[in-house]
Formats: sequence, structure tokens, C-alpha cells
Amino acid sequence: KAKESGRGRFVRYEPDMDVDRQERNDMEVDLRRAIEMEALYVVYQPVIAAGGRRTIGVEALVRWDRPGHGPVSPDRFIPIAETTGLIDSLGLFVLRKACLEVLDWPGISIAVNISPGQFRNPAFTSNIQRVIQDSGIDPSRIVLEVTEGYFIQNPARARWTIAKLKQLGVKIALDDFGSGFSSVGYLRQFGFDRMKIDRSLVAALDESPTAGELLQATVSIARALGIPVTAEGIEKEEQAIALELCGCDELQGFYFGRPTSPEQILARLQNEGGKDDHTAAA
Ligand code: C2E
Ligand code: MG
Ligand code: MG
Ligand code: MG
Repeated sequence: KAKESGRGRFVRYEPDMDVDRQERNDMEVDLRRAIEMEALYVVYQPVIAAGGRRTIGVEALVRWDRPGHGPVSPDRFIPIAETTGLIDSLGLFVLRKACLEVLDWPGISIAVNISPGQFRNPAFTSNIQRVIQDSGIDPSRIVLEVTEGYFIQNPARARWTIAKLKQLGVKIALDDFGSGFSSVGYLRQFGFDRMKIDRSLVAALDESPTAGELLQATVSIARALGIPVTAEGIEKEEQAIALELCGCDELQGFYFGRPTSPEQILARLQNEGGKDDHTAAA
């Protein structure tokens, strides 16, 4: 009887699983080719100083226009790159590209997302070092953004890797704070230089008054530790004001600018440089 229902379940779900697996395999084949042909590209989202509202940095975000399918979200293809060993070459491509492009934008910092799979690679720090040397970028302009997952799994190793990276002169940010189990304790424990508040916490400001108090407390602790805070996912002026009042140092979100091409970033910086007031261009 149990066997029968077991088999029934199996029969019911197998076709979907096959389709899913097939789709992932197809995507992997296409992604591998895209990386080899350097068909991926990088867009940049402005990071704004709180208060003065000037562009002080950008976050590099990878893009893939899959032939015959159109744009695929990194939230879909990064996990595939992670499980298929493609993440190392994908990550290095993004870092190399971003370091070279940011050379044209003096004084601007560049944030690059790093996957747990890259962090796990023993050659990771020497790969980063090589990109820094080859591109000639000032390493203090680089911010590597990492999420909590890897730190929880392997705290000792993560601390060691972060220490090595900091010796290279780059900064390390804890990304997506508030989207999982991150605690402010990690900031100190791992030696993070920066914290990024996840956009879910920013969105929650609209819904509950306690969200604002929690955010205020979190930002206060980070700042007491001397760690600057960036708020992500700002979509309107009221949120920007609330986060400035909370003490956030940097603001990022569609309100200030969507991720765009290097040409548009350059135009934005030139435009800001030529103006006396630095009001946001949404
Ligand atoms: P993330 O690092 O937290 O990046 C922020 C994401 O939020 C970006 O999505 C960005 O376009 C989006 N975003 C920014 N402002 C707003 C806003 O005001 N409202 C809303 N709704 N969204 C906003 P994107 O580019 O689709 O990237 C998604 C995630 O994929 C990133 O989250 C990051 O975890 C990962 N990712 C992107 N590029 C790379 C990369 O080069 N390497 C690695 N390892 N991961 C990457
Ligand atoms: Mg990020
Ligand atoms: Mg984030
Ligand atoms: Mg994310």
C-alpha cells in the first residue's frame, strides 16, 4: 500500500523534475559558452552619500542576455554557476571588467559581489591579487560584498580569508543584512568593513513602526563599531530621508538610479561634477 502511494507520488512528480533538470542542463551549457566567449557584461548601480547625495561609488552587477531567451536574472544563473564550477571564471570576469571600467571614474569606489563558491576556492585571494596588479587599480577602491551563508558554515576559514583579503587593501562588506540570520555580532567577529542593509528591511519601513526602531538600533550598533552602513533598495524620497535619519552613510536603490551601462555612469558623474547642487536624478 505504502509502496503504491510512494510510486504514485514518484510518477506524479518525475516529469516536472526532468523538465527542471533539463532546463538547468541547457542553461549550464549556454552559460558556459557565454563565459568562454565573454558574452556576459556588467552594469553599475550608483551608490550615493547620505546627506550630500553625491555619487561616491557603484555596485557591479553581472548581466546575461541568453541567446533565444532574453535576459536571465543573476538570481537564476548565479546558483547554476555555483553548482557547476563556473562561478570562479564568472566571478573573475566581473571583477576584471569592473576594475578596468572604474579606472575611468576617479574617486569612485567599486563594489563587486562574491559568491560563497569563490570564497571556498583556495586560489581566491591570489586570483584577486592578480586582478588588482593587472588592472593597476588602487585596491582601497574595491569593496567585496559577501553574504552570511559561507560565514555560518565555515567561520574559521572565512575569518582567515577575510584577513588575507584585507592585507591586499580591499574592503569587505556584509551584503543583504537582515534577509537571513545575520547578526551585528558578525561585523566584529569577521572584521567586516561595511554593512549593507537588505532591501526587505527598507521596504518594511512602510509597513510597521517597529521596523524603523529595529533599523535604527542596528545602524547605531554598526556605527558604534565604526562600520559604515549602506541601505539598499531605496525606491522613494521618504525612505531616503528615514534612512538618513537612522544614520546610514550610503544609499542605493532605483530612486537614485537603476543599474546602467558604463557610459551612462560616466555621463552621470560628469553631470554631477558640473553642478552646484547634487539633487538626486531618479
Ligand atoms: P545584491 O548584491 O543584493 O544586489 C542588489 C540587487 O537589488 C540587484 O539585483 C539590483 O538590481 C536590485 N536593486 C537595486 N536597487 C533596487 C530597488 O530600489 N528596488 C528593487 N526591487 N531592487 C533593487 P540583480 O542585479 O538582479 O542581482 C541580484 C543578485 O544577484 C545580487 O544581489 C547578487 O547577490 C547577485 N549578483 C549580481 N551580480 C553578481 C556577480 O557579479 N557575482 C555574484 N557572485 N553575484 C551577483
Ligand atoms: Mg551586492
Ligand atoms: Mg544586497
Ligand atoms: Mg542579494
